[in-house]
Amino acid sequence: MTTIRSIPLAQPSIGNRERELVEQVLASGVLALGPFARAFEDEVARLAGRRFGIACSSGTAGLHMAVRALGISQGDEVITTPFSFVASANCLLYEGARPRFVDIEEEKLGLDPDLVAEMRGPRLKGILPVHVFGRPCRIGELAELAYSRGWRLIEDACEAFGSSSSGRPMGSFGEASVFAFYPNKQITTGEGGVVVTDDPALAAVFRSLRNQGRDDDGTWLRHIRLGFNYRLDELSASIGVAQLERAEELRAGRRRATDAYQAALGGYDWLRLPSQGPDEDVDWFVYVVRLDPSIDRSRVIEDLQAVGVPTRPYFSPLHLQPAFAELGHREGDFPVTERIAATTLALPFSALLPDEDVTYVTDRLIKAVTGESGV
Ligand SMILES: *Cc1c(COP(=O)(O)O)cnc(C)c1O
Repeated sequence: MTTIRSIPLAQPSIGNRERELVEQVLASGVLALGPFARAFEDEVARLAGRRFGIACSSGTAGLHMAVRALGISQGDEVITTPFSFVASANCLLYEGARPRFVDIEEEKLGLDPDLVAEMRGPRLKGILPVHVFGRPCRIGELAELAYSRGWRLIEDACEAFGSSSSGRPMGSFGEASVFAFYPNKQITTGEGGVVVTDDPALAAVFRSLRNQGRDDDGTWLRHIRLGFNYRLDELSASIGVAQLERAEELRAGRRRATDAYQAALGGYDWLRLPSQGPDEDVDWFVYVVRLDPSIDRSRVIEDLQAVGVPTRPYFSPLHLQPAFAELGHREGDFPVTERIAATTLALPFSALLPDEDVTYVTDRLIKAVTGESGV
């Protein structure tokens, strides 16, 4: 096959139902603070096994509110992972708190509970674990540690909507847990997020924080705390409602794409594929393989780009980001994170990815690495 394709790295699946509900919102004239955001947050909470869901304008906004609501402030320290998207550390810096990075473990790519257990310090206030790529981190052990040490627990489940471990959904562990619905996530609202919790007092604080610090009593110009405009608008929320209705279909699409990748790429000794434990049910957010360290990843990325296959290193370690220079980290501080980050490659992935695209991508990848046609 010599045709060159253009395959998106990620792609949302927007169907007729999304259009229909967006039309309904437009026709209703209620563009904010309406029934769709309420329906969306309730259903997300129910799926995560939580009592309350509070829809907000992004996952980052949700994380920021969680940090604020749990009383983490200036000079406090929170344990979190350097192998993540920038938002999980930024939300701490917004409040003047310091991310205390701890290295990850090789298998699930989340915070290593054994290393976390060694952490001490008078300013340590909390822990903020992330389920990376949709795979549950060792959240049970981390939650126990948090409980025994009196640490607050904020669960970043922004990449793990729909994943579970031993039947327990991700997003059910934190005092506050946060989902995100950016277009590349498992389901989308355009921009959007939901914070979930079981604590009614905390839920009330979230509702107030997202809505300019207003009280729940409905008095429009009464503000009881410093709040934000972190509301989710109705157009976005209606897309989310439609996506939840189609959640099984979307999940099945990702499952099909995952299975096709696993089948095509199994058995190569230069490649480590994403895996899940026997007790886990992972709904992958991205499909990330790990190349043997001897492989020149930059060249593979360029070769693939040249044939219309976008790929990306995922993630670039947070502790080495220029934005975090003030934290004073240097290369070598978190060896597992750095070693793994140097070999990751995210391949095109979505519920819409056709099998022939998977074949195209995997053939080109094999060719780029081995020089041989994979067919
Ligand atoms: C996507 C994501 C977020 C939130 O992203 P938004 O774009 O603000 O919705 C937070 N943490 C992680 C790990 C993420 O992947």
